[in-house]
Amino acid sequence: MRGYLKSLFRNAPAPVVEWAQIAYHFLPARWRYGRSFTNAVRLLSESEHWAERDFIAYQERLLEPLLKHCYENVPYYRSVFQERGISPRDIQGISDLDKLPYLTKETVRKKQKGLLAENISFLDMEEAHTSGSSGTPLTFYMDRNTRPVDRALALRKLLWLGYKPGDRIAFFKGMPLANPAKFIRYFPGARELRISFHNSDDKRLNDMLDAMQYYRPDFIDAWPSCLYILAQWIAKTGRSIAPPRYILTASENLYPHIREKIEKTFHAPVIDWYGQEESVAIAMQCSQAKGYHIQPEMGVFELIPTDKPGLSEIVGTCLHNIAMPFLRYRTGDLAVKGDVQSCPCGRKHPLLEKVMGREADFVLTPERNLVSPLILDFAFIQLDEIREAQIIQEDIKTLRVRVVPWETLSESTRATLLREIRERLESPTMNIILDETDDIPRTEGGKRPFIISKLRTEDYL
Ligand SMILES: [Zn+2]
Repeated sequence: MRGYLKSLFRNAPAPVVEWAQIAYHFLPARWRYGRSFTNAVRLLSESEHWAERDFIAYQERLLEPLLKHCYENVPYYRSVFQERGISPRDIQGISDLDKLPYLTKETVRKKQKGLLAENISFLDMEEAHTSGSSGTPLTFYMDRNTRPVDRALALRKLLWLGYKPGDRIAFFKGMPLANPAKFIRYFPGARELRISFHNSDDKRLNDMLDAMQYYRPDFIDAWPSCLYILAQWIAKTGRSIAPPRYILTASENLYPHIREKIEKTFHAPVIDWYGQEESVAIAMQCSQAKGYHIQPEMGVFELIPTDKPGLSEIVGTCLHNIAMPFLRYRTGDLAVKGDVQSCPCGRKHPLLEKVMGREADFVLTPERNLVSPLILDFAFIQLDEIREAQIIQEDIKTLRVRVVPWETLSESTRATLLREIRERLESPTMNIILDETDDIPRTEGGKRPFIISKLRTEDYL
């Protein structure tokens, strides 16, 4: 039914869609998202105070029927089990999961149909995509019970920060809009202000600030790159807005200088969230912002070693999506486990020290040094003439730095930037090209990755 309504409104004239969306947001969340959402909220309120053993027991309770389902109904997994000469009974718990191979994006792309459960109707699935901010976009399918868990976790994120019904939230995202003129929209029912950053010129930045001054959000939920531009605009124009209680970031890597600039300008702490469209592994910061609490309710979170010292890759097994099960899915995202054992907040959700860039986000120098985006990010500190920047590794010897200035780029800023980048790369031979441009195009999903590497680093390491 919901799919039918969606297609109905997709073809409707723009004003009808707009009013339908506003009316929809007047509905309480449990009606908008259905019974699965209510169930997920109930689960999360119970699991809030679970101990580590309770999380494991919960995951194993869901894992057993999931594996049986994969074996009986999903052709790809059936052949995986058969090739290894095992059956679901051989996986008695989470520690036995390593009897199964990792699932790569490449396999999902190639197998597609073979990963779909034969006993689930297409009408009970929804198509989903990754934005392709690193690598090629991926199409996959989810059953209708998985997104509600994601949404319930997003609600938990707010509740952990003291959100109460009636609090106002402003969203800043980069998604393209059907009608770009309506880049600011207000949904009174949900008390949400939604602002699209897809095209943000000076007039639009001023309009956004006007809306923020009028609306005075308690929470700002934003992609870091969007809020960073607004923070620079506030500093440039001397305007100000009432500080929100918290700023929530997600969807893009949160680099230290971006966090610092946002916190300083908006006078509010930044709380970050890690997740992915495939919903296999989620981790979020609490109000202490010490590390990231893994959310075992979504899936089994594994960390596997990489060729980058101290960094592990995040691998996730989603316990909910039975339409296209993701078992031991390699996200390509990197994290530092660290030794933080407990958080002052007292929650027993396991901790990660840091979530880092995606695999492709690293630069490889001709001297075979891998340079983290976090290090290159520091090259841009206090270069206030720069509005946006992107680094593209064209080949092993060439780095293209695209820069969008607010007005013009002075010779001294150019020289400082080139010097800072070279120092951080520690590479005398890398050819660095500085391109001044009017715009850095966003990906189809609206993202603007800081680093794009055209290298396959494994060919060189
Ligand atoms: Zn905590």
